[in-house]
Amino acid sequence: MRIQQLPPSVVNKIAAGEVIERPASVVKELMENSVDAGATRIDVAVEQGGLELVRVSDNGHGIDAAELPLAVASHATSKIRSADDLFCVGTLGFRGEALASIAEVSRTTIRSRTSESAAGAQLEIAGGQSLGTSPCGCPTGTTIEVRDLFYNTPVRRKFLRSTQTEMGHVSETFTRLALACPAVHFSLHHNGRTLYDLPPGEDWRERIAVFFGPELARDLIAVSSVDAEVQIEGYVASPSHSRANARLQYLFLNARAIRDRSLQHALGEAYRGLLLTGRYPIAFLRIAMPAEMVDVNVHPTKLEVRFQESGRLYSQLLGTLRTRFLTTDLTARLDPTAGQPEAASAHDAAHAQALRRELVDWAKGQLSTAGAAIASPAPTPDAISAEQSRFDFRYQPHPHAPLDLARLSRPWAPAASDNEEEPEPAETAPSETFAAFEARADRKLEALQVHDRYLIAESDDGVVVIDQHALHERILYEQLRTKVLGGGLETQRLLVPEPVDLSPAEAAAALESRDVLAQLGVTIEPFGGDTVLVSAYPAMLANLSPAEVLRDVVERLLAGGKTPERRDLVDELLHMISCKAAIKAGDRLSPDEIAALLAQRHLAQDSHHCPHGRPTALVFTREELDKQFKRT
Ligand code: ADP
Ligand code: MG
Repeated sequence: MRIQQLPPSVVNKIAAGEVIERPASVVKELMENSVDAGATRIDVAVEQGGLELVRVSDNGHGIDAAELPLAVASHATSKIRSADDLFCVGTLGFRGEALASIAEVSRTTIRSRTSESAAGAQLEIAGGQSLGTSPCGCPTGTTIEVRDLFYNTPVRRKFLRSTQTEMGHVSETFTRLALACPAVHFSLHHNGRTLYDLPPGEDWRERIAVFFGPELARDLIAVSSVDAEVQIEGYVASPSHSRANARLQYLFLNARAIRDRSLQHALGEAYRGLLLTGRYPIAFLRIAMPAEMVDVNVHPTKLEVRFQESGRLYSQLLGTLRTRFLTTDLTARLDPTAGQPEAASAHDAAHAQALRRELVDWAKGQLSTAGAAIASPAPTPDAISAEQSRFDFRYQPHPHAPLDLARLSRPWAPAASDNEEEPEPAETAPSETFAAFEARADRKLEALQVHDRYLIAESDDGVVVIDQHALHERILYEQLRTKVLGGGLETQRLLVPEPVDLSPAEAAAALESRDVLAQLGVTIEPFGGDTVLVSAYPAMLANLSPAEVLRDVVERLLAGGKTPERRDLVDELLHMISCKAAIKAGDRLSPDEIAALLAQRHLAQDSHHCPHGRPTALVFTREELDKQFKRT
């Protein structure tokens, strides 16, 4: 075959395919142009999911009649002048491709008037061929109608999905722009029906509520971080709301909706331990920074951008969220009257209600029989997590108390401390711990152990059910982390160093990570062949076998396939070690041990979740109990 230059019409169709994939792409490009034109009102109407018609009207600055043909020419734009301008793009568009691409694959009409001209002008174009310009009457601003999308590219048209699916994409596109520009009045209509009408609002949360429901909006935590150049503002959702994917992470950079792996990762990190594995946090964040600090010209639809200092942005976001969570009480609170889980069918709702009731009944049974044999079974962990219907936020400062490992002086205590220190009595527990665990002022916090796995205690405003393993794991994790970060982890030299046989890959991985292991108090040395010698070991793990811990650690090292970041690795190993070292469900505790555990509860500071993401405590409010007993 001979090499041949393609005719312009083909070139244009190829180019169009890059930008315009489906009706939602048309909606996106037209809405962005309207925003760039300074519009304060933008109305979007679509028919048949946009397959038949997309119409976007705005009250922006309009296009001069003489420039109409240029607007639909490819590589024609009013937004940049030179290549240098590419590095400080302040508008949503700049490639001058969208209108040309749209006009190439549809029948398009543009009607526009600038405020300077008395009359408007209209341009019609079909399949990239101009049908001429004519004067027309219209208000200041621009209306663009796009009909019969892909009518001349049947293959592309075949790839389109049902009206419903396409409308879903349109709606998502609309949502992003409406969230990005809260000062603009937007509306969306489908087949003559109004789906959204959003007056400009002061409160971003209200707009979020329109799209995602008042319940989510109510449980949003405001975050804000301003440094010399970068500003992050917006909301993240309480951990009681999460999704199975990252789709509800709305990130806006200078009013442009973007996707960014590093920022998504920062969100995931911030929620580590607060969400179950596989769940993603919900966030609505607006980031503002000087246009020259970001390259928006790396993606045809500009969904991805490149930050000059992405590391700095990552740390700023993560730091902001961590600090925010420290001052936020994330106590799980059971509330059968709270809204049903979203999108739950009637059956699911009834089932959830039944589970809730069962759990409340169970707790009531426990309390009224005060430790006597109980007939009803304990709720399954599933049932409990299904009940996490609402979280409550209250500001509670909780200063760090000095750490004292010896307080927990039972089987899980360091073997080295053989001076049997008495656990501190509960009344010396710091009184400014967080709300849910707070005992009533006139009593000392006492708890009843049930089924050798839960502790039940009276709190300020109800009853707390504590998962003993989860709480202890969390405490150990915090203690370990503080010690590891401060370099003060006690290690024990083993009298007889323990050789551990590993596979070649495992031995290599272990020795490669020697210094990370040393930071965790595990000292290893090569011992010939694939054997590794453990010569020192954290004192607090004395009751676990060094070989077993090392094997698990190595498994983690190899699990990801690639070397994890040091910070992540340390954190993951801390989780693993604290889980292993914590008391288990099924361990019967003495009253002293219960007191010791409760005395350290303030260390489970930044959440009521154990590091795996399960809650450590559930609260049954007194109001709820009163209601269930029909006292109100
Ligand atoms: P870009 O947005 O990348 O500049 P487009 O093809 O989307 O390219 O638009 C081409 C030009 O048409 C824009 O630069 C702008 O000058 C003009 N234009 C398009 N839509 C509008 C609108 N709604 N209001 C005013 N001008 C518009
Ligand atoms: Mg554009």
